[in-house]
Amino acid sequence: MPRGSDGSTRVSAALEGDGLHRLERLGSVRRVAMTPKPPLAQQTRAAVLYGPGDLRVETLDVPPPGPDEVRLQVAFSGICGTDLHYWDGWKFDAWFPERSDPWVPGHEFSAAVQAVGPGVDDLAPGDLVVVEPNTGCEDCPTCDRGLVNFCPNKAIMARGAWADHVNVGRRHVFPLPGAADPRLASLTEPLACVVRGFDRVTAAPGDTVLIAGAGPIGLLALQLAKHQGAAQTLVSEPIAARRALADTLGADHVLDPAEDDPAAAARDLTNGGGADVTIEAAGANAALQACLDSVRDSGVVLILSVGNPAARFDLRPFDFFAREISIIGSNTRVHTFQRALDLIPRLNLAPIITHEFDLADAAAAVQTAKSGQGAKVIFDLRA
Ligand SMILES: [Zn+2]
Ligand SMILES: [Zn+2]
Repeated sequence: MPRGSDGSTRVSAALEGDGLHRLERLGSVRRVAMTPKPPLAQQTRAAVLYGPGDLRVETLDVPPPGPDEVRLQVAFSGICGTDLHYWDGWKFDAWFPERSDPWVPGHEFSAAVQAVGPGVDDLAPGDLVVVEPNTGCEDCPTCDRGLVNFCPNKAIMARGAWADHVNVGRRHVFPLPGAADPRLASLTEPLACVVRGFDRVTAAPGDTVLIAGAGPIGLLALQLAKHQGAAQTLVSEPIAARRALADTLGADHVLDPAEDDPAAAARDLTNGGGADVTIEAAGANAALQACLDSVRDSGVVLILSVGNPAARFDLRPFDFFAREISIIGSNTRVHTFQRALDLIPRLNLAPIITHEFDLADAAAAVQTAKSGQGAKVIFDLRA
């Protein structure tokens, strides 16, 4: 990939925009900047979700970027568990935007700037970026409290990035550092959610951490727990392929809940005490139960999954007294995006991306993600 004189990485295919600006910034690639500008695409391929199980790859119009907007050429775009929930027809009664019309999913992606709209003067065509899909207004009582994830005026991408091209507001865009790998950078958004969860609990160096569920979120949590100095990590996962991934990614103990008792294993490894922190990353009641059973007295259960709003769970209130357990929730991200981006090169993330698809095969990609036979499934949309 070509390097600019400022060390930043560029995608040479995306050269729309102000050539003079490029000359200023990229003196050494003068000839590239002098080539005629390709016309800005007016249409894009996009995978459109019409309803549960009905995903169609279509051609949509895409307007030029408006004021304070950026046109992006998507590079890598991931499939999130929440996208699968919409595919399955889950009904969200809170927080998630209503998605009744056909819409384009995709909020975990890296991209190259293709053009900038009026008022954007700090990004240039070719810059590689990632996108924080929801941003708070930073100017309301909720944001004042630091709860930008609950901002009533938060900006949400109008159209997702299971598409070749997408326009987003400038404030969603984070430039990638020069040496960043855009494939791994597509994990920034889910990693930023895991960072938010870790911000909500006190995990000390030397802790024992148990993770129930070895999908993308569980595996990201495993990497972060190790990075933060967990003395030992246990991962419980019913699917063999995902247990193998947890093993590859350095879990100290990998458990099959069909055969092993996670709570007994956690106690065995901690002189009978249990794990200091347990992380529910499966969205399944059995996983939450395993977390409650495996955590030590006065320990913390962190819930990183997005459960089905229709699900219920039986709790015994007495245990909150008798065991002083904390159950901590976590919702998306609160100023964790840049920190996640900075963590990307410091974690072992490459094995977490197990499948790459062309957008034309979007339905097959979703089925692969739903099968659970890998971890993160992404689209490779590089021009
Ligand atoms: Zn996501
Ligand atoms: Zn706000």
